[in-house]
Amino acid sequence: MRLPLHLTVDQVKNQIRHRGKKRFPYVLMLEPLYTCNLACLGCSVERHTGKLKDRMSVAECLAAVDDSGAPTVSICGGEPTVYPELKELIDGIIARKRHIYLCTNALLLDTKLFDVVPPHKRLTVNVHLDGMRKTHDYVTNREGVFDKAVQMLKQAVARGYHTAINLTVFRETEIEEVEEVCKFVTDLGVDGILITPGYQYQSVDHDIFLTRSDTEEKFKRIIEISKKYRLTSTPMFLEFAAGMRDYKCSPWSTVTRTPNGWKGPCYLIGKQFYETFDELWNETDWEYWESRQDEGCTNCAMHSGFEASVVRGLGKSPKDVMRMAAWNLLG
Ligand code: SF4
Repeated sequence: MRLPLHLTVDQVKNQIRHRGKKRFPYVLMLEPLYTCNLACLGCSVERHTGKLKDRMSVAECLAAVDDSGAPTVSICGGEPTVYPELKELIDGIIARKRHIYLCTNALLLDTKLFDVVPPHKRLTVNVHLDGMRKTHDYVTNREGVFDKAVQMLKQAVARGYHTAINLTVFRETEIEEVEEVCKFVTDLGVDGILITPGYQYQSVDHDIFLTRSDTEEKFKRIIEISKKYRLTSTPMFLEFAAGMRDYKCSPWSTVTRTPNGWKGPCYLIGKQFYETFDELWNETDWEYWESRQDEGCTNCAMHSGFEASVVRGLGKSPKDVMRMAAWNLLG
């Protein structure tokens, strides 16, 4: 199967549990801290403060897991391996029978993960890799990051962790290099490849992001790559990103908790931060954000907004249901 069986089962159970509801969370994007040990070109300066004291407590993180009810928790940040209580946090989420995507630049995996948290079927190590050596070191703004990430990926595979990479496509990204990365990590034994369009949603210094037409052009070619490699983006999402089909956004599907509170309306846009999950849920104008009429949505084709729209649209098309089942079962 393309996605781990228990993850698919838990997502289906989540759909059944919320049957009849128009909106409910699929994934919690958990940012226990803003601090990172890199200063990548595509990132905002708020990530590089080094202020560890501003992090969320483990109790706050686990309360967010409970409040959201989402079966999958994506631990991002900041860099989660810098979070001092990482083991306690992972243990607490696994004890709640949720699946974790640990989104990491991999630099500290050997000391902060491999030494303290054994492989578990509910834990996926999701390594940021935006290209081969020259490109990745350029995007991460430091020499040697690619080599270390690859070394850590090899170790993760050898030790039995479930692994994935997350590759962001920027304006200058050559699609030939995307294919080269797919081949390279497939040969390493990595389990999944997530390719996302780089979209400017916060103030950053570098103009490297895709317009909607850039995204469409690049993703038409990525659809070809998806026929050869184990991409975890659904075929319908890739067609959406390529401009071949249309969806409303589902910003409520990936609720985001940060050290500043619950971020609304979506993972990308922080118009407002709320103290409680109920405030985020009840006070956000979901219909407005679903419509994508806000100017902040103009160039967006992020999986965090649209993969749930794909799932929501399955009810209208038995053909898409069959494609989705085949994509997961035979992938
Ligand atoms: S279209 Fe993108 S930016 Fe707009 S609400 Fe959806 S996910 Fe957020």
